Amino acid sequence: MRLSKVIVLAIIFVFVSLPLVTAAEKEELTNEQIYEKRMDLFKKVETVTNVPWHYLAAVDTYERGLRRAIKDRPKEEGFISIYYSEEEWAGKFNPNKQDTHPLSIQMFGGVGLDGDGDGLADRSNDEDVLYTLAHYLEGFGFNEDDLRIGLWEKYKRDQSVRIVHGHAQVYKKFDTLDLDDHAFPMPLNYNYSYKNTWGDRRGWGGRRIHEGTDIFAGYNVPIRATAYGRVEIKGWNKYGGWRIGIRDLDNIYHYYAHLSGFEKGIEENSIVAPGDVIGYCGSSGYGKPGTQGKFPPHLHYGMYRDNGYTEWSFDPYPSLKQWERKAYQDRRKKK
Ligand SMILES: [Zn+2]
Repeated sequence: MRLSKVIVLAIIFVFVSLPLVTAAEKEELTNEQIYEKRMDLFKKVETVTNVPWHYLAAVDTYERGLRRAIKDRPKEEGFISIYYSEEEWAGKFNPNKQDTHPLSIQMFGGVGLDGDGDGLADRSNDEDVLYTLAHYLEGFGFNEDDLRIGLWEKYKRDQSVRIVHGHAQVYKKFDTLDLDDHAFPMPLNYNYSYKNTWGDRRGWGGRRIHEGTDIFAGYNVPIRATAYGRVEIKGWNKYGGWRIGIRDLDNIYHYYAHLSGFEKGIEENSIVAPGDVIGYCGSSGYGKPGTQGKFPPHLHYGMYRDNGYTEWSFDPYPSLKQWERKAYQDRRKKK
């Protein structure tokens, strides 16, 4: 072999063994390109393991939300957010926490596997991580109940299983990862008003502090889903009245309270898109089921974040402002 050929092969080898994409390169990709890369990975691993891609996407997106909510988890470098600690990956008693040898990892009881066939089980390699998860789930079977059991064993928390299962249903229904759109909860052509009432003690529908924003409007103004998601709760609540709770793909729970009624066909487990009408503005709450009129009609809108252990409310006002601004921009563009 001529020397030049050896050099060319060496260069190719170096490039091939580099990570597929660096963090800097990822920054330059559009969201569409990122979704495309991610979908390629899901489909590839689905083919090898028979775990449906929407389940892989659901775990990935759930863990992406966790990374944002839990401070001690690092930001993901590749396209996949599924997280394994060094100990989980390499094995608790493995003296080499950065071990990438599948055999010694297995020997020390680590979960890390080689997904892309390069002989290494690399915790920072998207395909290895995704394959490790899929292989784990595969061990439980392929129907929804099997997958739920696998998820329960992984997270040991019903709420986590519910959230991941919901994400999977959303991906399955829309058959795409590009589900970032949001909508303002009321159509712009109705009269409504709201101001920042975060923490206000005099708000309606709050607990000790006012956990949300009140949007005042007339009775029966349509209330719309603000994000893609799954209806987690629907029904009567003593303070919230007729209320509905929707979980989106960022693991955020959107709480709509004091409705006069629900849109037909909206039930628990319904999958919704931003802009879908889910109910109507009212003044229900603060009493036994059906109580109305103890305060002026308004939508109480709350947002809650989940970190894998617990849930807490955060101020929805900036999001509402942003969605409203976007809705006005879109309307102008159409004219
Ligand atoms: Zn309120």
